Amino acid sequence: MAGSSDILVLGSGIAGLSFALKAAQSGRQVTVLTKRALRDSNTAYAQGGIASVLDEEDSFLSHIEDTIKSGAGLCKPEVVEAVVKEGPQRIEDLLRWGVHFSKRGRGRSSSFDLTREGGHSARRILHSADLTGAEIERALAQKVSRHSRIKVLQWHHGVDLITRRGEVMGCFALNIHTGKIGAFLAKATVLATGGGSKVYLYTTNPDVATGDGLAMAYRAGAKVANMEFFQFHPTCLFHPKAKRFLISEALRGEGAILRDGRGHAFMGRFHPLKDLAPRDIVARAIDAVMKESGDEFVTLDITHQPAVWIRKRFPNIYKTCLQFGVDITKDRIPVVPAAHFMCGGIVTDLNGLSSLKRLYAIGEVACTGLHGANRLASNSLLEGLVFASRAEAHLKENLRPLPPWFKAPRWTTGHATDSNEAVVVTQNWDEIRRLMWNYVGIVRTDKRLERAARRIKLLEQEIHQYYWDFLVTADLLELRNIATVAALVIKCSMARKESRGLHFNLDYPKLDDRRWIRDTVMAKRA
Ligand SMILES: Cc1cc2nc3c(=O)[nH]c(=O)nc-3n(C[C@H](O)[C@H](O)[C@H](O)COP(=O)(O)OP(=O)(O)OC[C@H]3O[C@@H](n4cnc5c(N)ncnc54)[C@H](O)[C@@H]3O)c2cc1C
Repeated sequence: MAGSSDILVLGSGIAGLSFALKAAQSGRQVTVLTKRALRDSNTAYAQGGIASVLDEEDSFLSHIEDTIKSGAGLCKPEVVEAVVKEGPQRIEDLLRWGVHFSKRGRGRSSSFDLTREGGHSARRILHSADLTGAEIERALAQKVSRHSRIKVLQWHHGVDLITRRGEVMGCFALNIHTGKIGAFLAKATVLATGGGSKVYLYTTNPDVATGDGLAMAYRAGAKVANMEFFQFHPTCLFHPKAKRFLISEALRGEGAILRDGRGHAFMGRFHPLKDLAPRDIVARAIDAVMKESGDEFVTLDITHQPAVWIRKRFPNIYKTCLQFGVDITKDRIPVVPAAHFMCGGIVTDLNGLSSLKRLYAIGEVACTGLHGANRLASNSLLEGLVFASRAEAHLKENLRPLPPWFKAPRWTTGHATDSNEAVVVTQNWDEIRRLMWNYVGIVRTDKRLERAARRIKLLEQEIHQYYWDFLVTADLLELRNIATVAALVIKCSMARKESRGLHFNLDYPKLDDRRWIRDTVMAKRA
């Protein structure tokens, strides 16, 4: 056995680390497994900030209303209320742990520089310049590394949950450096493994976002829901070497124009606000233009503004694009929409408890009911913090020892051998991400979804066979998980016969409130 502790946490983003700190402060022994280096997470890439009601002119009611409006009928009001109202206390936690947010003014008269984002009707976004997530991750990682009751094991990749009759007793994990798999037992297991946007060819997310926790929980029998709701950011730099650079909406705010391959401005065809239309509409319009023309990208043009002003207003975008050979003062920027956030996930209650005993899910991996059919900007860091705290409070009262007779099962490799055909992994990986992009992307149709369902079934069979024939590697684990995430997105998308929030199907282009104000819940048949 590789170890046992009171609580096992998988993942070291905002949800996992803030949970670990609170649990350790309550006297628990916590083990944190994370599949790469400690700070490798989506959290570290968050730019805009974290929403919370801190301004005198703002109100809880207004934040609640904005969240519910964005969620297009599927938010759970009691969850929205809890998250919004607990927000300010959780921000206090971050400040206590040493997170620095940008301020206005100096000395005693200074106050937080609250900004506003799309969909928010007040200034309520705390930020650390445009590197908010990196600052949060820095502070939390530092605290966790110094805590005597927290053991962090980096480069430990969760493989599968250890279950017994609907109870989760821990997890098998692969030590990436030694290639060995061990059992980690715990009285409670917390999945904080983040989202699965890597299921799409283009994404703003880093490589760790392969939906591992979601796939592990699904395999173990947990309920998952609302996987049809993937949020796409409209403009990500298109360049073979730029994996995930966001081109901020502020460019369009300052007059940048989207153009097709022939240089024609096209947003007028799609919305009266043209390039300033809401995010979803812009993403859908770009997708339509790319599908019509077969082009791999469209372009964003700000060259009509003075070069000196552009360099001053967008120094980071200017500098980064230049590194890839695009001078935004002279050249149009090649952009594509990119998968950004997974609104669905493991179904939890208000305490982060999943449908399996002893298993909690917090952060982007969870489907708590906060986001509904569309996430409001900057609500996800907040959700991770609030649910980490709620799960920990619940465990204070409910942590039960494992039965004394329970022994860690042995991991058996059977007749598996080292693979000499790693090309199978790369081929399938590319195929899944491309088929998801082309058939299950921003705009869907029944025909495309059916095609995707047929392909993913074959790919899953092939991957399953490969998984049992060869010794596991991190790449193979991620491939298996991404295939499960893809299959779930396809199933949920096929189930919802309407268009709502982030799910748009040309065969059912309207809302159907009579039949579809409900979650799309999936669970593996036993
Ligand atoms: C470019 C970008 C900008 C964003 N901007 C904002 C913003 O301004 N405001 C906002 O609220 N949200 C923003 N988001 C979304 C937000 O960052 C995420 O939703 C949030 O950080 C998720 O936190 P998390 O703790 O749930 O997961 P993550 O931060 O993704 O952490 C997941 C952790 O789990 C680990 N892990 C995964 N699988 C395994 C496994 N099998 N075994 C062990 N460990 C595993 C990973 O290595 C990682 O450490 C942004 C996201 C991106 C990509």
